[in-house]
Amino acid sequence: MARYGMVMDVTSCLGCRACMAACSQWNQTPFWAEDFKGKWRTRVTELEEGKFPETHKVFFPTICMHCENPPCHSVCPTGATYINKDGIVLIDYDLCLGCGYCIEACPYDARYEYEKEDLEKDEFYFGEDARHHQVHVDKCTFCVDRLAEGIEPSCAATCVGHARIFGDLDDPNSEVAKLVNSGKAKPLSPYLGVHPKVYYIK
Ligand code: SF4
Ligand code: SF4
Repeated sequence: MARYGMVMDVTSCLGCRACMAACSQWNQTPFWAEDFKGKWRTRVTELEEGKFPETHKVFFPTICMHCENPPCHSVCPTGATYINKDGIVLIDYDLCLGCGYCIEACPYDARYEYEKEDLEKDEFYFGEDARHHQVHVDKCTFCVDRLAEGIEPSCAATCVGHARIFGDLDDPNSEVAKLVNSGKAKPLSPYLGVHPKVYYIK
């Protein structure tokens, strides 16, 4: 049993969005959606910081925060949203009604609908290897299928800037645990009380 988490080092993110491409290819998420506000399990948003004329760009990566007290879980009427033994928040597609309560409940905007037209595109691009077969709500799984094979999530494996650091928060020797326990990496909006397991260095 582990307690998986991720640290996003915003100071190291180059804004290349290789993570978004790698995630969407591995997980067959709708890369065919029209813009970067579309249906992604991970996003990198470009922000401007500082006061004019001394402003600078910052690239801000986000995913599902795999909260320890996730509101998406408590509002789900069917038990489709569940937490596995390693603390990963997952969705059982067979139980998902697509009601969207969880999308509304998530304070981090981490979920989206995998719609009928997306299933058609998935089949068009991936043929018999298509991984999505029913309409459902979708989000990051920390690439749970890769973890089962002993390999890290696709976004972290692809990140050239080492801006995404993945590991077991309960292992004091892991890089994520060291960054979190030292106070260098902090959660976003802790006042929400959902206890995210994704932390940020800013
Ligand atoms: S970030 Fe949103 S979708 Fe992910 S566990 Fe937290 S509440 Fe649920
Ligand atoms: S859309 Fe699916 S996962 Fe979300 S609350 Fe409804 S049944 Fe649960």
